[in-house]
Amino acid sequence: MTNAAKNSSAPLHRAANRDLLVRLAKGAVICAEGYVFELERRGYLQAGAFVPVVLTEHPEVVEQLHMDFAHAGSDVTLALTYYVHREKLRVIGREKDLLPMNRKALAIAKKVARKTGTLFAGDICNTNIYDPSDRKALKEVARIFEEQVGWAADAGVDYIVAETYSWGGEALLALEAIKKYSKVPAVITITQHREETTREGWSVAEACQRLEAAGADVVGLNCHRGPHTIMPALKQIRAAVKCHVAALPVPYRTTAEQPSFMSLTDPCCANARAFPVGLDPFVCTRQEIFEFGKAAYALGVHYLGVCCGAGPHHIRALAEALGRHPAASEFSADMSKHAYFGTNRRIRSVQREYRDKL
Ligand SMILES: [Zn+2]
Repeated sequence: MTNAAKNSSAPLHRAANRDLLVRLAKGAVICAEGYVFELERRGYLQAGAFVPVVLTEHPEVVEQLHMDFAHAGSDVTLALTYYVHREKLRVIGREKDLLPMNRKALAIAKKVARKTGTLFAGDICNTNIYDPSDRKALKEVARIFEEQVGWAADAGVDYIVAETYSWGGEALLALEAIKKYSKVPAVITITQHREETTREGWSVAEACQRLEAAGADVVGLNCHRGPHTIMPALKQIRAAVKCHVAALPVPYRTTAEQPSFMSLTDPCCANARAFPVGLDPFVCTRQEIFEFGKAAYALGVHYLGVCCGAGPHHIRALAEALGRHPAASEFSADMSKHAYFGTNRRIRSVQREYRDKL
């Protein structure tokens, strides 16, 4: 290998247009999310607080996870600044790490985005202190958004995601900060719990209309609801707004009776609440995510992803639902070579004839 080739920093994929809105006008954009759940499963952060302390302790693990999602078909590398805000760091007693953790998350995501040719996105989220009747809290929420948007803008993000808002009013404050402190597009997603409405009682369609009117480029839903129970509201939102719509459900089998992943109870465990570390028996198959992707895109929803609980195999299924063949699809299942179920000529009858006993 020549030195020039060795030192090449050419992206793994052909450089694509980094304008989110141009990309959405042409078709789907896939954004893998749910990093904190995946990193919790891998043993690098704690369920409960869900603060990604892994950023300082094992940044290489975060980088590899971004790489895995890009390999599986994500068009976006979203900086892991979810729950790296002032209030969350106060809860775990690490407020002094606020700036270094944000800078680190942005630097890792930017590096992976450049290497993989994916869009580089910033991220702000629910603060958990929003209270429409508490003026002091509202001021603090605005401060949290302002500083995190500022750091994302400094890092040169292509756009900013503001996500997982139970309050429409908090989502509007997040949008206001993105418009004021950056010049990039804003993707704003609210979340639905057991109730159909936001916590102040707006329908999600109304909340999205308000966000569109206030200048959001993409509006929609993320987290908490699985592919089945996110669909009714998604249809209402698609009919209510003109802008692009986003849908990033959790990959769990939520039901009409238990529509959010926090409401799921496990009949095998005395009907205990499954959230957050007992959700494994409810995980969606790849086929279910594939079908969700097809249905949502057919509805006209172009910004697609999977939130908490997602693994790279879900993202690959979503990409394949859109007719794509990401690098990881080289290893999508091929049962023709299986030891018992295969059709390959080398699979002997001694194996095939035993199938029914498996
Ligand atoms: Zn989530």
